[in-house]
Amino acid sequence: MVKKHVLNAETELYCLIGKPVSHSLSPLMHNYAFRKLGLNAVYLAFKVNEEKLQEAVDGLKALNIKGANVTIPYKTSVIKYLDSVEETARRIGAVNTIKNSDGVLSGYNTDWSAAVELLKEKLNTFRGVNALIIGAGGVARAILYGLIENGVNVTVTNRNLDKAEAMVNEFKTIFKNKTECNTIPLTDIKKEISRFNIIINATPVGMTPNINETPVNPDYLTSKMIVFDTVYNPLETLLIKKAKRIGCPVIEGYRMLVKQGVLAFKIWTGIQPPAKDMERIVYLKLKAEASQINKSV
Ligand code: NAP
Repeated sequence: MVKKHVLNAETELYCLIGKPVSHSLSPLMHNYAFRKLGLNAVYLAFKVNEEKLQEAVDGLKALNIKGANVTIPYKTSVIKYLDSVEETARRIGAVNTIKNSDGVLSGYNTDWSAAVELLKEKLNTFRGVNALIIGAGGVARAILYGLIENGVNVTVTNRNLDKAEAMVNEFKTIFKNKTECNTIPLTDIKKEISRFNIIINATPVGMTPNINETPVNPDYLTSKMIVFDTVYNPLETLLIKKAKRIGCPVIEGYRMLVKQGVLAFKIWTGIQPPAKDMERIVYLKLKAEASQINKSV
């Protein structure tokens, strides 16, 4: 039973900073968790213009906002305004979670750990595992970090291959060649794909409204491959649909979205939130949005 949410003079505030934020599902899942746990706290989304980012971050201190998430396009640029940044987030070069401890702002990244935790649910071990990441942007960086950290061999492919190569070289230096890490052009996917145990889409390909696109030809997939699509809108991308049909274990993007939120909640409050319920509420919201779209088409 979810308790009534009563706001008063002692309510603690948490928030999202980004632009745009109106589509965000973070207020839904965090407010649900606060209510369910009976915590006197509320989560709001703030659309912040770039020139106001520093003022917004300083405002967290001024208003004693207990914690924040940071989203596109500020995950990197926010770092310079924080008092400290966890080593992992510094290496990834992105912060998605801020904790305010008595006026000291610390930055964390929970995207990488969310991805790793979800993959751990599908695999007994990461030893000898080969992953293909498609994409070389922010989310690819976080996942690449998590995979190398856990001993996975990773190949990155990207539309702009130079970008992928620069990212891979940077991480090879950071991790001192801890695992095998390289790049391939998109055109080599067909001939290389059979050696991968995990295929990860870290591009927006397949996202609404382009729901008939896939980042890789699904005909290349085999049932032994774990298919992880970071795209969460639609709930089930064409890549995920096809992978399920083939019999691949799949990880849908909404599960990563929820998991990074669950990990952020734990950092802010020290309390394990009701993760399964949060996942369900986000799932239902995305499903309702999908049926609205279907009705209007
Ligand atoms: P980003 O930094 O802008 O990077 C986008 C990446 O996708 C780049 O590698 C880009 O290639 C590639 N790309 C973009 N459009 C493409 C296209 N039409 N065809 C092929 N490649 C394309 O974005 P990001 O922050 O990494 O986010 C990427 C996606 O991840 C988002 O769209 C979102 O769906 C998903 N995401 C999910 C979560 C979650 O929690 N589930 C969190 C964050 C992001 P170039 O380098 O060649 O431009």
